[in-house]
Amino acid sequence: TARAEPDATIRSFEPAIDAEARRQRELERDLRAAIADGALTLHYQPQYRLRDHALVGFEALLRWHHPERGMIPPGDFIPLAERSGLIIPLGAWVLRAACAEAARWPAPVRVAVNLSPAQFRHGGLVGTIADALATHGLPGHLLELEVTESLLQRDAAETERLLRAIRGLGVSIAMDDFGTGWSSLAHLWRFPFSKLKIDRAFIRDLGHDPRLSAIVATIVGLGRILGMTVVAEGVETDEQARLLAQEGCDQVQGWLYGRAMPAEEARALIAAQSDANQRKVA
Ligand code: C2E
Ligand code: MG
Ligand code: MG
Ligand code: MG
Repeated sequence: TARAEPDATIRSFEPAIDAEARRQRELERDLRAAIADGALTLHYQPQYRLRDHALVGFEALLRWHHPERGMIPPGDFIPLAERSGLIIPLGAWVLRAACAEAARWPAPVRVAVNLSPAQFRHGGLVGTIADALATHGLPGHLLELEVTESLLQRDAAETERLLRAIRGLGVSIAMDDFGTGWSSLAHLWRFPFSKLKIDRAFIRDLGHDPRLSAIVATIVGLGRILGMTVVAEGVETDEQARLLAQEGCDQVQGWLYGRAMPAEEARALIAAQSDANQRKVA
């Protein structure tokens, strides 16, 4: 009959939809278990001041070693964690783990932690941050939180209140992936950001397209006017570094300087750097 046709068409897609739904459910179950079992780890990517190449901080980045699927990058499971609500316990764990690690670093180097908008919608974020600092005795100024422009899309007054409460703990706030999202100068001006991270998309073709140098120069100028530190992310080549220095960018992060590394390596890097500084002073 005429009615059987569309039904048959729909049914033929069901196995694929089922398989994808099943995969998602399995992944969610595995992620839940991974959080409970402590199977997630943080790697740390160094950030350098461009002027004198001083090591100024590390960004904590989540890594999940899945028993069967191998290394799952955060881009594949953070969205799942956000959809399922798992981002709340996961985000709290990341904050505690990063603060615990930074508190034992051999020199006062800042740790940066990424936050999802969902963590702002869930009450208790400020308390979670305060607890993570207090439990491990990390001074607030050694913690930086990275948020993206998508955070600013929702209830601006409430977001501003939370960001100011976080600043009240001495913690600094960076605008991550700047220039790719829902940016508005009004928001930049209104919210208490201390840092702008220029998105990798702008850095990638720096050196190939002179207009990108102008964009970078504009962001650097904007940061200067607003009293914010400007960081370039995804720096991979000497040529990009040279152009960033020329435009007056403050800090850099990228494979040219170092990939995200296990905690022990980050600690060793800080120790080596502070030894070198002591030798310079002596
Ligand atoms: P992001 O915060 O913008 O982090 C920078 C990403 O760029 C990282 O990818 C880093 O490994 C990568 N990267 C750094 N330098 C270079 C470079 O020179 N070249 C290239 N091609 N890539 C570079 P990763 O670790 O895969 O993280 C992806 C995203 O996942 C992060 O982007 C962040 O949005 C999210 N994420 C990671 N950890 C967490 C977390 O603990 N919580 C939340 N909410 N999100 C996280
Ligand atoms: Mg980030
Ligand atoms: Mg980023
Ligand atoms: Mg990014």
